[in-house]
Amino acid sequence: MGRPTNDMQLNAATPGNLLIDGHWQPASDGARFDVTDPANGEVITNVASASVDDGLAAVEAAHRAFRPWSATPPRVRGEVLRGAYELMVERGEEIAELIVRENGKTLADARGETAYAAEFFRWYAEEAVRALGSVVTAPAGGNKIIVQQQPVGVAVLVTPWNFPAAMATRKIGPALAAGCSVVLKPASDAPLTSLLIADVLEEAGAPPGVVNVLPSRRSGAVVGAMVHDPRVRKLSFTGSTQVGRILLHEAADSVVNVSMELGGNAPFVVFDDADLDAAVDGAMVAKMRNGGEACTAANRFYVQNTVAEDFSQRLTERMAALRVGSGMDPEVELGPLINEEAVLEVDRLVQMALTDGATVTTGGERLDDEGCFYPPTVLTDVPADSEILDHEIFGPVAPIVSFDTEAEAIDLANGTEYGLVAYVYTSDLARGLRVSERIEAGMVGLNRGLVSDPAAPFGGVKQSGIGREGGHEGLLEYLESKYIAADW
Ligand code: NAP
Ligand code: MG
Repeated sequence: MGRPTNDMQLNAATPGNLLIDGHWQPASDGARFDVTDPANGEVITNVASASVDDGLAAVEAAHRAFRPWSATPPRVRGEVLRGAYELMVERGEEIAELIVRENGKTLADARGETAYAAEFFRWYAEEAVRALGSVVTAPAGGNKIIVQQQPVGVAVLVTPWNFPAAMATRKIGPALAAGCSVVLKPASDAPLTSLLIADVLEEAGAPPGVVNVLPSRRSGAVVGAMVHDPRVRKLSFTGSTQVGRILLHEAADSVVNVSMELGGNAPFVVFDDADLDAAVDGAMVAKMRNGGEACTAANRFYVQNTVAEDFSQRLTERMAALRVGSGMDPEVELGPLINEEAVLEVDRLVQMALTDGATVTTGGERLDDEGCFYPPTVLTDVPADSEILDHEIFGPVAPIVSFDTEAEAIDLANGTEYGLVAYVYTSDLARGLRVSERIEAGMVGLNRGLVSDPAAPFGGVKQSGIGREGGHEGLLEYLESKYIAADW
């Protein structure tokens, strides 16, 4: 099965239009924008750019679809999601290739993302029947406390370009399982994958209006108008902390329920008792999955003094050996960054670290080939107060800082306004758990370089966000408790 993704087929599979109320349609004012391939700058296709009117039409459609969908038996909602999971698996290669084209990641990463994305539909197909409530006798004994879980209502979903499939399914899955209808606004740098996922959901039987998708170059205006519409009761956002802050202000105006999955600045802590081979393997995953363009990317390496040189050498060898090129080439291990601005920003951070006294052991200068390529880069002797450690690098750069004591490592790890994920390597279980407990992060990888799992609650503390996606917690984000005080 699976449709080929040559350019003509690409337009047939993903019509490049907005999906509103079950119809694929152009923007109300005809606006469109180009989607480009970051490996060579070529225009892949163009898509409709939703207007404010389109946003409000989508809210209207979602509002009309909400009651019937929330009244649909949970088992039936689950079966739509299960069908979507199966179609995503069947069309996996087509989806992975589309991700590579618009995002630039390697084919291996895109296949990994496709499988991960599909799993959210499978997981929430199972969770749809588990919106559990409770009945207890009030402590004073007179009456009963009945708690029922009800869908929150129309949900606006806003997603980033770095995981164009998984960030969409991680929101759509629990929303539909809970009985909510949705309007998805995908990122402008990678809108095509979400259109394909909408196509999959339609084929799996999602009724018109339950899933609406609106690519738009006018994100601020369109999302702002939707969030201010009283029919919208939920905003789930994944993206930068900067934009998250703007949306929290907007949501405050109409007291909309929010979930925020924001930026990260993950510390990767290696103690001298760690299995160094495992630590280097984990570092390669934590740093290089998605070419470093992940909110979970290891952003600061803290390595205990006695093993710092050994670790740095091994990591440098592994990084220097990576093959860089177009993600479409199956031999390639690092693709381009998403766009030219991303390359300039990564290079700016590296040059700043060098000014602060860091040493480059590999990479460190942009490649002058065509396309948005930056080489795998390792920086050693980075001063603990260097500015690069305060920024989400979002590229293939590993700054290494050495430390003396456990207490110092914890302080360094916590010295950021972010708190999404942290990685800790040690062979002392008690130390591993003690440090995990003290690190200010929503997630910890203990002797593991990968935490993402559809069955686990993903999310951050501090300025990395509010709420969780995945696991049973992810379903609760789309439900509200209804309390009924009853006498019988
Ligand atoms: P971004 O610039 O914040 O954009 C995210 C989304 O918000 C896009 O769809 C964007 O649309 C939209 N947007 C931008 N400005 C807006 C506004 N004023 N009002 C409403 N919507 C607006 O983030 P990004 O560059 O796409 O993604 C990278 C960031 O996402 C990183 O910080 C990364 O850490 C974070 N991230 C977090 C998680 C997590 O789970 N915590 C997961 C993945 C990524 P346009 O594309 O049209 O601008
Ligand atoms: Mg692009």
